[in-house]
Amino acid sequence: MTTANDAPFTLSAEFAEAIPQMAVPWHGEDAPDPQLVILKEDLAELLGLDPTWLRTDEGVHFLLGLNPQPLTKATAQAYSGHQFGQFVPTLGDGRALLLGEAHSTDGILRDIHLKGSGRTQFSRGADGRAALGPVLREFLISEAMHALGVPTTRSLAVLTTGRKIQRGQVMPGAVLVRVATSHIRVGSFQYSNIAGGIDLTKQLVDYSITRHFPDLVPQLSAPSPQLYREFFHKVLLRQAQTVAKWMRLGFVHGVLNTDNTLISGETIDYGPCAFMERYRKDATFSSIDTQSRYKFENQPIILGWNMARLVETLIPLLGDSPDEGMNAAQQELGNFNDLCTAAITKEFARALGIDASHKPLIDEFQQLLFLHASDITTVFQSMITNSAPPKGFESFIQEWRSLDPDVETMKTINPIFIPRNHLVEHALADAIDGTWDSFEELLNAVTNPFDEDAGTPYLARPSEDGFEENYMTFCGT
Ligand code: AMP
Ligand code: MG
Repeated sequence: MTTANDAPFTLSAEFAEAIPQMAVPWHGEDAPDPQLVILKEDLAELLGLDPTWLRTDEGVHFLLGLNPQPLTKATAQAYSGHQFGQFVPTLGDGRALLLGEAHSTDGILRDIHLKGSGRTQFSRGADGRAALGPVLREFLISEAMHALGVPTTRSLAVLTTGRKIQRGQVMPGAVLVRVATSHIRVGSFQYSNIAGGIDLTKQLVDYSITRHFPDLVPQLSAPSPQLYREFFHKVLLRQAQTVAKWMRLGFVHGVLNTDNTLISGETIDYGPCAFMERYRKDATFSSIDTQSRYKFENQPIILGWNMARLVETLIPLLGDSPDEGMNAAQQELGNFNDLCTAAITKEFARALGIDASHKPLIDEFQQLLFLHASDITTVFQSMITNSAPPKGFESFIQEWRSLDPDVETMKTINPIFIPRNHLVEHALADAIDGTWDSFEELLNAVTNPFDEDAGTPYLARPSEDGFEENYMTFCGT
């Protein structure tokens, strides 16, 4: 067996060293019978982790957060959050751990993070664990999102713990090994603001700049309000670009609390999310979103609300006086709506293979999707394959064709396979029962979404009528 000393790498603990006030040293919970059930080998290699070593007992221990130094200095991160609009000052990693950061082969520093790794000081009475179903769901959908070109956290591995956990019924316990360019959230700034005021917040912003915006780093030696304004502007741009992709794919995140909004713009937390098969402004799937706060059409508005919560923690950095800081915050935030509209138009233009200057036609397309509650994925495919236009789209398609759209590029943007709800539910139920075929088939299709040979035609088709009408998702915590 490999020993810790033979381990071919160590992770850095940059966040914990830069912001120790927000990183509590911790370790994972021991598991009675740990099994590595999925390992994404290409991602392991990108992270500079040897897949063969990860499969050893020592590797599995590492993936559960059980190895103390020298492999990792794992920590639980502190953060706050507005959950459905209600402020909770101390959330933090209640069932998660940051193992450390990996220097990936592409030069980018990435967090290796566990979900379901046991109780921490942030657990607030809950068990610190995760059930296999939601863990597999996050694995499948986050890897699909990555393949679709959406900024997202990724999934390196799934382990079962051999422990039975209570979630209404007894479920197998599991751990997800998640990867992101950082886990710095809007809620991280809300926490720094209340726990350490502007000094700690500045520490966090400066670290975030080194992590996400290298072109701003030279300015850190003589920081000015302009630097922090540029930082915020870049965060706004990231959010706009990500939400534009959600809107173009018909993706409903479902729980856009401020602790689930990363400043990197990566989509995080695939609890109650769903891809719509009927394009609807008010689509809401989450069982706990009873007011439809996070319905499909609200997503840009809610991200704007979350950005307001971020910028209010930055005001003293944004000007030489409180008035100046406030004015700068309002000016930047005031741009967000236009940034989103422009990003959404650009995203649809790309998907339609036309120039974004054709905005009236692009707007008409979106209106038609809503009017006919269309399955956006098959609408795009019918346009690519030049098959009979969907009902109601005939004259639009005539006009669109007259623009000589770039169909070859469209094929690289518009998926054939998305994680359709009925397929996801079916695959998860089978996998929990120990039959992995449908999960593997679906995973292969949705991680090669533009390749028609990656799955059967069945996997590309919408569900039968009625499935989506009653479809409900659960956070599954
Ligand atoms: P999430 O819904 O995963 O975004 O989690 C929201 C907050 O609840 C975070 O602070 C989590 O760490 C915490 N949390 C969720 N589930 C659990 C659990 N089973 N045990 C402890 N904390 C949890
Ligand atoms: Mg969360």
